[in-house]
Amino acid sequence: MAEVAVRVVGLTWGCWKCCESTVCVLGLTSKRLRDYETGNQAVEVAKCLLIGAGKADIAECLAPSVKGIASHCTVCGAVQDNFDLRREARERYYWDDDNAAYDALADGSVDDAAWREIEIGEFPW
Ligand SMILES: [Zn+2]
Repeated sequence: MAEVAVRVVGLTWGCWKCCESTVCVLGLTSKRLRDYETGNQAVEVAKCLLIGAGKADIAECLAPSVKGIASHCTVCGAVQDNFDLRREARERYYWDDDNAAYDALADGSVDDAAWREIEIGEFPW
């Protein structure tokens, strides 16, 4: 069965509550540069890839949300606001003009059929 190479992309920023630096997951991308906007399925895929990359601490901070995935602060556990997160991601994307502002958290592959169900949104977030 065909597989699609998928990357879990995140960014590091200061938590709104405790101000400590924390890693938030933005979404999943493939070479088609799409992210997902669905809940549980994408979260499970992201968790599997992160655990596979030895980043269980980040995987534990993920939860489904209305707009895809929600990240909790790895330090204090506060939910990070997706609206602010995505605005920050867009700003970094446009100002830096490449993907360097993002963290490549994990790489892996997903079954093609499953990926087609997940990818809906457009990059950049
Ligand atoms: Zn925090």
